[in-house]
Amino acid sequence: MKPDLHKKFVVGNWKMHTTTADATHLAKEIADGLGAMNIVDRVSVAVCPPFPYLGLVGEILKGSGVALGAQNLYPEKDGAFTGEVSPTMLLDLGCKYVILGHSERRRILGESDAFINQKVRAALTAGLDVILCVGETLDQRNSGQTEAMLDRQLTQGLADVSFGVLNRVTIAYEPLWAIGNLGHHATPQQAQDAHALIRRCFARIYGEKSAQAVVIQYGGSVKPENAASMLTPYGVDGALIGGASLRADQFLAIVQAGISEAQVIGKSA
Ligand code: PEP
Repeated sequence: MKPDLHKKFVVGNWKMHTTTADATHLAKEIADGLGAMNIVDRVSVAVCPPFPYLGLVGEILKGSGVALGAQNLYPEKDGAFTGEVSPTMLLDLGCKYVILGHSERRRILGESDAFINQKVRAALTAGLDVILCVGETLDQRNSGQTEAMLDRQLTQGLADVSFGVLNRVTIAYEPLWAIGNLGHHATPQQAQDAHALIRRCFARIYGEKSAQAVVIQYGGSVKPENAASMLTPYGVDGALIGGASLRADQFLAIVQAGISEAQVIGKSA
């Protein structure tokens, strides 16, 4: 069984935002704010800046307890891949995590499940931990295809990923219709239900124990106002934050909500 008391995992995805000055300021505010909150052992936090600022932000975050993550990689060690960034380079810059399969990369850049799977395997082999994003469109939800879509993204995205490295994979459930403040919001119940579907798929592939152990974040317009309610449902182990991660006060408030929720002991299925 999942423990009653566990740490929430809160990650900020800065997407293609910030400048050198913005990234410096934001990272300092987050490091200082979390330092004051004494987060160690109470919550896990990471931020994922754009590639050009990884080194800079990594330096600022050193010793803060906040981990560094990247938003993408190319699934080769090195070579003639103009414009791409390898897993080794990310590790060299101090990254612990990489976000893969984000809906913006699937939708705008046409990334397939097969290509995402190559990235997942390359990241894990190199030593990076993976945050694999999955989620359905509104049309898919309305036509009853949510489970099939999640199943496909998980089965294909995790193809040939061995049981032994599963503890380095986090799943981010991000319904496309709830991302980016477009006016639709998932309810806590919808998040809980989708997370249960994801665990069911995990149970089928890897067994019940892995299904209970896998960390599943919710992502989609999480803000300070709704963070506590979105982090409360059973099976929601954290949050992947887009827009609100660009404001230190908002991001810190969400982290605080994560700490408070993890302290609620005795949650049951
Ligand atoms: C995202 O795109 O991963 C995301 C969760 O964005 P937002 O929080 O802005 O909806």
